[in-house]
Amino acid sequence: MRKTFHYSLLVFLGCMALTFLLSEAYLDRAGDIEKTLARPIILFVGALFSIASGFLTWSLETRDQYLKREVDKRTVELEQKNRELNTKNSEIESFIHIVSHDLKSPLVSILGFANVLKTDLGAALSGTNLEYFNRIVANAKQMTELLQDLLELSRVGRIEDQKENVQLKPLIQEILLELKPQIEQKKIEIQVSSDLPELWGARNRIRQVFVNLIGNAVKYIGQSEKPRIVIAAQQKSADAFEISVRDNGIGIPKESQRKVFQIFQRFHQKSGIEGTGIGLSIVKKIVETNGGRAWFDSEPGKGSTFFVDWPAVR
Ligand code: ADP
Repeated sequence: MRKTFHYSLLVFLGCMALTFLLSEAYLDRAGDIEKTLARPIILFVGALFSIASGFLTWSLETRDQYLKREVDKRTVELEQKNRELNTKNSEIESFIHIVSHDLKSPLVSILGFANVLKTDLGAALSGTNLEYFNRIVANAKQMTELLQDLLELSRVGRIEDQKENVQLKPLIQEILLELKPQIEQKKIEIQVSSDLPELWGARNRIRQVFVNLIGNAVKYIGQSEKPRIVIAAQQKSADAFEISVRDNGIGIPKESQRKVFQIFQRFHQKSGIEGTGIGLSIVKKIVETNGGRAWFDSEPGKGSTFFVDWPAVR
């Protein structure tokens, strides 16, 4: 407030001094009558102008200070909201972690007893009873997978991962070996770029990303005539690589594409392909907690390409 007053006073005095100097310069060359008449007029107009300038400075300064105060207030509010959001997020994550962890043991026990029951009943378990029994077991298994994925999702970012330099090529080959039965059964041609890079991150997290992406490419390859999956990479900047997994499978319906990375979103349930709808959420979370980005491009009936930007070795 004091500063504003001083500024305004300074502007007022400056304008008055200017008026005075100008009037003196003008009156030096003026006649006597002009001097008596012009001096009070010039000084009066100058004083009015100086008051107006002082006032303008005052209001501009006050407004400036008000805006600064408002910005500071909003910043504090925003920071507070951010803190609350982070707390809520970690509460939700711990809740998911606890719930999925605790729900797993009754399921393990259901599956265990189901096995015992099957062995004990032997041939007595048949027909409709066997069908019901198998459905119970299949549902319990599906729920175990769901809980396992939820548990994984809640772990990403909560637990500090040990990072290292990871060679992508052997990791991809390891994943492809695990998927070999499905790849052979579906007769999928796999093309892996020879210059896959070395990445910086936790090996098991990078593995999870590509298990999900390549696993999905295999799962959703559909009935294409020449099923094909291409895994490639390119250096995007000095410290990041773009890795892509391309398939010529069933693609993702256009209207659902904005929801692809959201949890529990599944778009091909009718085709009976199994899944939990959590894999791509895990991918996104892992990639983002490592400072990267995950996105995709998909054409229904033609295929999808999933991209990941990942930091290069340090
Ligand atoms: P899911 O366990 O169902 O595979 P994801 O989170 O991995 O869960 O994927 C979510 C949904 O996105 C899938 O159910 C599927 O509909 C779609 N999707 C993912 N990857 C592909 C792909 N490569 N091609 C076609 N659809 C895909």
